[in-house]
Amino acid sequence: MAKDIRTIGVVGAGQMGNGIAHVMALAEFDVMLTDVSEQALKDAVTQIENNLARQVGRGKVSQEAMTAALARISTTLSLPDLGQTDLVIEAATERESVKQAIFEDLLPHLKPDTILTSNTSSISITRLASRTDRPEKFMGFHFMNPVPVMQLVELIRGIATDEETFQSCKTVVDKLGKTAASAEDFPAFIVNRILMPMINEAVYTLYEGVGSVKSIDQSMKLGANHPMGPLELADFIGLDTCLAIMNVLHDGLADTKYRPCPLLTKYVEAGWLGRKTERGFYDYRGDHPVPTR
Ligand code: NAD
Repeated sequence: MAKDIRTIGVVGAGQMGNGIAHVMALAEFDVMLTDVSEQALKDAVTQIENNLARQVGRGKVSQEAMTAALARISTTLSLPDLGQTDLVIEAATERESVKQAIFEDLLPHLKPDTILTSNTSSISITRLASRTDRPEKFMGFHFMNPVPVMQLVELIRGIATDEETFQSCKTVVDKLGKTAASAEDFPAFIVNRILMPMINEAVYTLYEGVGSVKSIDQSMKLGANHPMGPLELADFIGLDTCLAIMNVLHDGLADTKYRPCPLLTKYVEAGWLGRKTERGFYDYRGDHPVPTR
């Protein structure tokens, strides 16, 4: 029932795209990686080399496997070059107009049986699929960050996704040595549907003065055995991303329980987006993270 997939096109060479190229090449798929930015492609290759070298250093990957994986990755600035691949994973910026334009530009160059997927965290798979010529061969392929480390991949069926497409993607996840969770196409799928309201509630707990940043994170680490506190995790994900996902839940499910906390909005308005801007619920500019509230 599954299609034989050998070549994979990855669109977008940011933190997710380079991780996806990395794990696919290690699993012996040929990978073609594209981006609109030449610098992003160069940075992605350097990042993949560094991350593979770290895995070699820890004894998790052999030197030969690293060399072979790097040889399987090619980069291009031309999106049509991905047309002859068996499976395309779109991992570009989380904006619907960007993703739609990518699929539109790619369509005339595709083989008839190429499977199209998106790594989107929140945009409707059914809506993205409906604007292509192959909604039955379209689905969500949602990796977690950081891709080489996290075990789960959510596979999201749009309303039209056929069984062969699902089984083909599931076989790819199996070859990666990762675990697939099947999710239906409703706002934020499974992981973020559950995780983001918890993070948002942690921000409300801070906003209402129930606890400080430190006591909230410590409570969930020591009291619920979470490896990271919810505010620390929010900083890692990016507060803009957290807010965007809460807005998708709020708009898509029309339930006030998904109302983004005004304090989360305020941090995003300040440009305090977490680790990537060196300030969020913690300040990362010194030697140790210091709570900002
Ligand atoms: P990022 O900003 O690190 O990378 C996005 C890349 O897309 C950039 O290099 C950008 O130059 C490129 N890009 C933009 N427009 C393009 C186009 N038209 N063609 C080709 N490349 C283009 O973002 P990211 O964190 O890697 O996220 C990418 C996708 O993965 C998003 O859909 C996001 O929702 C999803 N995702 C992110 C996470 C996370 O924790 N960051 C987790 C799971 C899924």
